Amino acid sequence: MANEATLADAANKVAAAQRILLSTHVSPDGDGIGSGLGLAQGLAAMGKEAVLAIADPVPAYLRFLPGGEGYVRSGEVNSEPWDVLISLDCGDWDRLGEAPGDRSLFGTIINLDHHRSNEQYGDLNVVIPEASATGLLAFQLLRRIGAPVGPDAALCLYTAIATDTGFFRYSNTDVATFEAATELVRAGASPYAVHHALHENNSAGRLRMMGEALRLLEFSGDGRIGMIALDPEAYERADASPDDAEGLVELPRSVASVEVAVLLRPTPEHTAYKASLRSKKQVDVSQVAERFGGGGHARAAGCRLELPLEQARDRLIAAIQEELNRAG
Ligand code: 5GP
Ligand code: MN
Repeated sequence: MANEATLADAANKVAAAQRILLSTHVSPDGDGIGSGLGLAQGLAAMGKEAVLAIADPVPAYLRFLPGGEGYVRSGEVNSEPWDVLISLDCGDWDRLGEAPGDRSLFGTIINLDHHRSNEQYGDLNVVIPEASATGLLAFQLLRRIGAPVGPDAALCLYTAIATDTGFFRYSNTDVATFEAATELVRAGASPYAVHHALHENNSAGRLRMMGEALRLLEFSGDGRIGMIALDPEAYERADASPDDAEGLVELPRSVASVEVAVLLRPTPEHTAYKASLRSKKQVDVSQVAERFGGGGHARAAGCRLELPLEQARDRLIAAIQEELNRAG
């Protein structure tokens, strides 16, 4: 692999750096934001300058995370030089969007990620598919450079790990996950505070959106595919916002017969559809996503389809059916 590096190599670079820009993928999730805010606060506690630059705003459901006010720059394109860029949870350079600015602004680009499909675009590529979350790698990086991890950073890193493992339930959950969680709770992260913020804090619109999603749920492939395809008017019908659809792909995955679950939602410009794919045991959904230019993990992946809804749905179902046939 090109420029394959270890966490120790990355730690040496980061320890020697003073100005560090952090970034994560567009449509950022709990792992990307949690890793970024945890790292920013740990690095700042060592006297370093650290900022998290993201193309999109922090989604409303993650605004409980401490540090968002001080450490996040969202939308604007960076034009300053930095010693190091740490790209978090992001499989390819383009998926960072424009936020970090030109590659030439950085002394060293560290690509810290756990997606198998990662394109190795960094100067140092620390890509560890066995890691359940990028937050776990971010925590290990801070530990290696001896950065203090206070309660706020711990809460962010705990959230990163909790969200990417479905709160310690998905098949990526392993001993290292629990070990890191233990240390983060010891450092002051409150598991209940995170559960409360993410699961006991729904808007009425979110519940109406769940109702709309369940109404639109369709099965195919002898019940092995469960798909929710949200048309552009679905949000209006539910009097809900696009954020309210986050994670609804878990609804079809909860059905006994379903092996592959899909959530299709319109992009803000309504010119394309974003697919979220999940599987249980047999189908590698990253293979399906890669056919459409996306990627991800074996059990959770995503892609964009620049097609009308009907065609997007039909193409996806055909691709999933092929993978199901292959899996037997
Ligand atoms: P989600 O469905 O939650 O948006 O994403 C599930 C997983 O697939 C995440 O690990 C995410 O990073 C990855 N993923 C989602 N959309 C894309 C995409 O368009 N391109 C790539 N490369 N990965 C994606
Ligand atoms: Mn992740």
